[in-house]
Amino acid sequence: MSSAPRYLAATGNPHKLAELEEILAPAGIRLVVPAAVGWDAEVEEDAPTLEGNARKKAEAGLAASGLPTLADDTGLFVDALDGAPGVRSARYAGEAQDAAANCAKLLRALDGVPEAGRTAAFRCVIALADPGDGVRTFEGIVRGVILDAPRGEGGFGYDPLFVPDGETRSFAEMPAGEKHEISHRGRALARLQEYVASHA
Ligand code: IMP
Repeated sequence: MSSAPRYLAATGNPHKLAELEEILAPAGIRLVVPAAVGWDAEVEEDAPTLEGNARKKAEAGLAASGLPTLADDTGLFVDALDGAPGVRSARYAGEAQDAAANCAKLLRALDGVPEAGRTAAFRCVIALADPGDGVRTFEGIVRGVILDAPRGEGGFGYDPLFVPDGETRSFAEMPAGEKHEISHRGRALARLQEYVASHA
């Protein structure tokens, strides 16, 4: 019998789920999808912070399933826009949560801003809600710049517009494994893995 940790992933976003699995599987952490416990993973993301939304989603998953639950809330914080779209990144261009529309709106907001002024950061907060241990959060940040046109076919969301510091490729131009090595989500999950390993 394996004693590998097993967590419900409190997300209905297939891209996010795929990344969580790609990053956690090599560490022996297994994920249960919401459908497997008959949960729709619909949670209103109305908290004012990433941490608040991640906690809310993790607690909802635990309540729905009884399983220890992981949730991810992520935002893109653009310096020239006073941190927008930030915690509202998913709905920046409206309730449809359309990635192309969000990217187009971001490009319009930064129209005419030179490269030096296009600095930004992705922030990811992972919350772990455990029946015996309450809720803990783990944060990962990557800084970079916003391009003036999308580049690349990989990744999801704002990836075609974001070039991490020290790179020339956008996240959407990198193989997934290279994105995970340096990404906000990869870094947050590295912290989670340290915590899980030290409490095994
Ligand atoms: P949420 O965490 O599901 O609220 O997502 C926030 C917004 O950021 C959504 O528009 C996502 O598509 C986008 N997003 C989340 N993670 C990433 C990422 O790793 N790269 C690019 N965009 C992302």
